[in-house]
Order: sequence, then structure tokens, then C-alpha cells
Amino acid sequence: MGRIEENVKRLLSEIPSTVKVVAATKSRTLEEVEEALKAGIGICGENYLQEAEPKIRNCSVKCEWHYIGSLQKRKIRRIVELFDVIQTVDSVAHALEIDKWAMVIGKKVPVMFEVNIGEEPQKAGFLLKDVKRALFECSKLRNLVIVGLMTMGPLLSDVEEYRPYFAKMRKLYEEIAIEKIENVSMRYLSMGMSDSFRVAIEEGANMVRIGTAIFGPRNYKR
Ligand SMILES: *Cc1c(COP(=O)(O)O)cnc(C)c1O
Repeated sequence: MGRIEENVKRLLSEIPSTVKVVAATKSRTLEEVEEALKAGIGICGENYLQEAEPKIRNCSVKCEWHYIGSLQKRKIRRIVELFDVIQTVDSVAHALEIDKWAMVIGKKVPVMFEVNIGEEPQKAGFLLKDVKRALFECSKLRNLVIVGLMTMGPLLSDVEEYRPYFAKMRKLYEEIAIEKIENVSMRYLSMGMSDSFRVAIEEGANMVRIGTAIFGPRNYKR
């Protein structure tokens, strides 16, 4: 058994089956990605359009492709064409742009709202206080459907330090779910990465995004 296959099998045996595992495949070759998919991964997350495009086009194993990188207006059309889910909607303007191109292309795009839960100045995502208003504003858009929340969270050295951030996300997720906003259904709470997915799942994540723990170390961190 190859190293990637071994890692996937171990992770999937450890992670509850109610939690979806997204392989974060940035910087990985198509061969590595296919090995992970054959071992049982069903979703790939890509951060960069240029890198993702040939992988998506040439991948021989069927899977879902999620966009997990930062959005730029001029790339949204192609992202809408290529990806099954966009996890990183970080502004109403970007949601409008997705809706516009989804209409042109003729598809209804599942999206998630990215939350900057650590309120980090440099980081993309809605601030906690802005999420609900933005959801209401986007609930009228007909060519996308909001299926959940995603967060990166701050980069921390001790895994336990993640817990309060993940707990805040869970609370927000549940508050939104009971509001019954039109066109918004809280199905996915995407949080937790290689170093933090265990804590994230304990705090309610039902989707985790894992790179290093599947493929080994990368040349760049995020
Ligand atoms: C790279 C990346 C991950 C996975 O990070 P690892 O630490 O390698 O598991 C998860 N989410 C996003 C948005 C990423 O860019």
C-alpha cells in the first residue's frame, strides 16, 4: 500500500462517517490526487484556479471539486464553470458575481460562506457580526444556494487553542439554521485541517479539509 493510500485509510477509519473529508490538494500532482481518491476520498479542495484546471480536466477518478481558495472577481466565471461547490464566498459582491455567471452558464451553484472567526485583519471572510445580514441579502439570489459555513481560523500552535473558535462557528451555524432563511440551508460546517480536525469534529464540524495528513508536508504552508 502506498503512503497516501495508507494515510487515507487510517483517517477514514478514525473520522466518523457523518463527517465529509475534503482532500486539500493544492501543490499535489494528479497522480497523488488520484491515489487519494482511489483510497476512498470523495471530495477534492483546490485553492488556485490555474493549478486546479488541468487536474479537474484530466482526473480519471470521479469526485466532487470544491473551491477553497480566495475569490477574485475576474476568476469567478471560470470557477463557477469548473467547480461543484464554492466554499469561500467572502462578500456579497462575490456572491452576486457567482449568481450572475451561474445564470449565464445555467447551473445552480452550492456555496458556503467563509467566516473570519479569528477577526484577523489580513484574512478573507465575513466577520461574525456581518454573516446574517449578508445571508439575508443573498437569499434572493436564484442561481446559487447557500449550504453552509466554512472557516480557516487562526494558525495556532496548541490544538486546544482552536476549540473556542470552532465552538463560536458551531453556535453561529446553529443560530442560522433555526432562522430558516430562504435559500439558506445549513448542511455543512467546514472547519478543521490536518492539525485541528479532531478538535473541529468534537466542536461540530461535519466537513474537514485535510492536506498534509494525507499527502505529507508541502513546500508552502497555506
Ligand atoms: C491547505 C488548506 C487546508 C489543509 O491544510 P493542511 O494543514 O495541509 O491540512 C485546508 N483548508 C484550506 C482552505 C487550505 O488552503
